[in-house]
Amino acid sequence: MKIICIGRNYVDHAKELNNPVPKQPLVFMKPPSALLVNNKPFYYPEFSQDLHYEVEIVLKVCRNGRHVQKEFAHKYYEQVALGIDFTARDLQRKCKEKGHPWEIAKGFDGSAVISPFMNMDKLINPKAIDFHLTKNGDIVQKGNTKDLIFDFDTLIVYLSQFFKLQQGDIIYTGTPSGVGPVQIGDELEGFIEGQQMFNCDIR
Ligand code: ZN
Repeated sequence: MKIICIGRNYVDHAKELNNPVPKQPLVFMKPPSALLVNNKPFYYPEFSQDLHYEVEIVLKVCRNGRHVQKEFAHKYYEQVALGIDFTARDLQRKCKEKGHPWEIAKGFDGSAVISPFMNMDKLINPKAIDFHLTKNGDIVQKGNTKDLIFDFDTLIVYLSQFFKLQQGDIIYTGTPSGVGPVQIGDELEGFIEGQQMFNCDIR
């Protein structure tokens, strides 16, 4: 399975990091070893002093396809989860400065927190999914998928031009504004439409 991630997919987040709003989806990947499941704790890595959370709605691909047409794109996903795209912001900054790839800053072990998946027909509003993240009980990020620059169908069309989409692949669809650092001892909790999806202790 592949873990595909989209960067800068909310205008307010692109602006908070002084990045331009992209004209095409910004794509990177994490290896399957990055997944952190079942509310397991996250161990702060020694190689970073500036580890950031990014809460994101995650799509699961439910059928194989390449060069998917827009009118059929909605058939390629039926479940969503909530995840964190943990990012070593200090390493990412160095990679960006040098024009290097981001993998060491984004794809390290445990960097892809994922909740259980839920069927989208169970959602109150599948076209405008509300989600938020708390840190130690305080809301730090709030988003709604109606504000995505590139919506789910557009992502399916775009990605399937380059990568064969395979059943079980997952897509982190980008983070809204409010990204920030975590410290050892913090507790993160993620919610979709007010329902708790995961918690994650930083150790
Ligand atoms: Zn992200």
